[in-house]
Amino acid sequence: MSQPETHGFQTEVKELLQLMIHSLYSNPEIFLRELVSNASDACDKLRFEAISDEALYEGDESLRIRVEFDENAKTVTISDNGIGMNRDEVIQNIGTIARSGTKAFVQKLGQDQSKDLQQIGQFGVGFYSAFIVAKEVVLTTRRAGTGKEHGIRWTSQGEGEYTLETVDVSERGTKIVLHLRDDHQDFANDWRLRSVIRKYSDHITFPVEMLKPQTPPAPDSDNEETVIDAPVWERVNDAQALWARPKSEISDEEYTEFYKHVGHDWEAPLAWSHNKVEGKTEYTSLLYLPARAPFDLWDRESKQGVKLYVKRVFIMDDAEKLMPRYLRFVRGVIDSADLPLNVSREILQSNRILDTIRQGSVKRVLGMLEQMATNDAEKYAKFWSTFGQVLKEGVGEDFGNREQIAGLLRFASTQGGNDTQNVSLGDAIGRMQEGQDEIYYIIADSYAAAMASPHLEIFRKKGIEVLLLWDRIDEWLMSQLTEFSGKKLKSGTRAELSLDESTEAETPEAKETQDALVDRLKKALSDQVDDVRVSKRLVDSPACLVTTEEEMSLHLQRLLKEAGQ
Ligand code: ADP
Ligand code: MG
Repeated sequence: MSQPETHGFQTEVKELLQLMIHSLYSNPEIFLRELVSNASDACDKLRFEAISDEALYEGDESLRIRVEFDENAKTVTISDNGIGMNRDEVIQNIGTIARSGTKAFVQKLGQDQSKDLQQIGQFGVGFYSAFIVAKEVVLTTRRAGTGKEHGIRWTSQGEGEYTLETVDVSERGTKIVLHLRDDHQDFANDWRLRSVIRKYSDHITFPVEMLKPQTPPAPDSDNEETVIDAPVWERVNDAQALWARPKSEISDEEYTEFYKHVGHDWEAPLAWSHNKVEGKTEYTSLLYLPARAPFDLWDRESKQGVKLYVKRVFIMDDAEKLMPRYLRFVRGVIDSADLPLNVSREILQSNRILDTIRQGSVKRVLGMLEQMATNDAEKYAKFWSTFGQVLKEGVGEDFGNREQIAGLLRFASTQGGNDTQNVSLGDAIGRMQEGQDEIYYIIADSYAAAMASPHLEIFRKKGIEVLLLWDRIDEWLMSQLTEFSGKKLKSGTRAELSLDESTEAETPEAKETQDALVDRLKKALSDQVDDVRVSKRLVDSPACLVTTEEEMSLHLQRLLKEAGQ
């Protein structure tokens, strides 16, 4: 045992704790979901590490999570015999160093009047939810495989600081004792805890156990030596891998609850696809499309959300090899029957089995999106407004699926009359005019700017639909996407429009005036433009700038200029 050492939380953690402690949050029970989920992660990690180092089990391979309470002391205790933490890990994970989501979560909560703490798990700071119900948290932990003298005790009242001591811990893993606040003492109750566990933690693949309630001795027994039965632990949750069960036996509620667990989300998903693939490569995938974007969707470092399992043994989180970047919003699990249990990140880097799984999974996701687009336009519109920008990256990233991805894109257009992106390339082709064999589009800084473009005049006159694009990624998108379904995509600002009618002047006098004007303009603008031409593409505006096929588009030039190039 060592003297307790006091450490301060980082400012961001302090702020987070303040918000948490003082919120009058109506759903305090989520603390249990978060702590059980951490315990389950810890068991997953141990099982994975033990594949290459069996000694970590210390002779006890049955991983489990336990929840206890003390009605008199008003405590709730959550313990696991998972991987545990050493001193550095405690400091790193729940101590001094703020995790990447801390700041984002504090900002989010700061703006959110209802202070909806549900979201906490998504920001990777779920542990601190313990302070919603606890005035003091005592965490005792020992990393698997280290001697019993390497235990660490972390204690905090959730104010500015915490203390650390080295203590003896005989059993590996982590134990968290919550000393309940006065207004949350109702959690020190068997029925209450059981119902919360069943509600949120049914799908945790490890048993979550509680003590079997003791039947009190019969009141009339005056037998002096009433024998108190030895405590018996019983499993409270279902503890089966949901994805391994047959589809027909899983309810929508179960799918949704499982999603909330793997997706660290509190809202139901938009859609899911559960498949058992048999044949040369065997695997099961359960993939979800979330309804909302995670806070780090645009972070370069953002986590991917698909977990890899091998025969139900967790291998790793956010396996990049399972989903391409442009589908980084997909959540779920993939369980392979073919990969060896002792796979390492290195092996995964180039593995044929994994490549096949990835290709199949990408197809599933794209198929799921196509189905949604066909069967439920409203849902698809929701998907598009949340993740459409990310999906666009796929056009350049995934050559093999380009056509399919392009079919999923949605644009605003001159036909729509507003800035809703709901026109597909297929729609645009279906509305082509006689003799039109290209799809036209305009890229500008905003919807309004696109609509005001003089380049649209000729198209309006001819009743031709033009797609209107203004998202940051669009310039790049359209440089990748030059054709769809056999039709060329063409910028409406390009010069060589097959639409341009003859520019022949109607009378010799008119021609003379025209030529004279063109000459004067050419001279005056000789440094600025390549050429000056007469065109009938304009209806109301006197002149406009156009670029030729080879040149950079006007919008791209502007973007580069902005970027200081
Ligand atoms: P997240 O679970 O999203 O990583 P948390 O705030 O819930 O965020 O937990 C922070 C970190 O603390 C975890 O990533 C893990 O490293 C560590 N941790 C929390 N609980 C346990 C536990 N029971 N056993 C081992 N490590 C834990
Ligand atoms: Mg967690």
